Amino acid sequence: MSKWGGMIPKSSLGPINVGLSSASETTMISLLGKPNVTKNDDCYNDLASPPTKALLTSATIAKFKVRGIKPAVASLVSVFNNIQSLDQSLLDASGSEGMLCVRLRRPTSGAPSTHLSNHSWGTAIDIAVDGKTIGNGKGKVQLGIATIIPLFNKAGWFSGVGFGAEDDMHFEVANETMHAWAASGLLG
Ligand SMILES: [Zn+2]
Repeated sequence: MSKWGGMIPKSSLGPINVGLSSASETTMISLLGKPNVTKNDDCYNDLASPPTKALLTSATIAKFKVRGIKPAVASLVSVFNNIQSLDQSLLDASGSEGMLCVRLRRPTSGAPSTHLSNHSWGTAIDIAVDGKTIGNGKGKVQLGIATIIPLFNKAGWFSGVGFGAEDDMHFEVANETMHAWAASGLLG
């Protein structure tokens, strides 16, 4: 394990997700259509909405591959270039546990969700550090995740640590960024 896989208290993080909110289902459906999926047990990428399908692309970043909509993948490439500039070993320790995955949300407790996961539009990614994703570090977070949050935030991505629940490995294009991309014509 590298130092990046070590856990640090969330209380030691600076302000995160400033000016950024999680992209709402309403925003996502209004901008990219609604995928016709009713399950959460797998990825049903054939059911991606037509506007999402039209924008899908892939890229290889370091040792991992990502698949999502074009502006999100381009933004990720830029974020990981910045991660590499900050510290090559942090890039080396980073991986993806999946970007595009058309499915409903998977709550870790309570009733099954009828809401769509933001992975359904290829605008969210789960980041592994040292090959491990940690959704809930019980008040702690991997140093690698803590270190990349500001870089993702700067690029307009919301960190799942901000959910205050159990999704610390998750990053998604923020609601504000989705609307900005739409206004710039990046969503087709
Ligand atoms: Zn996720």
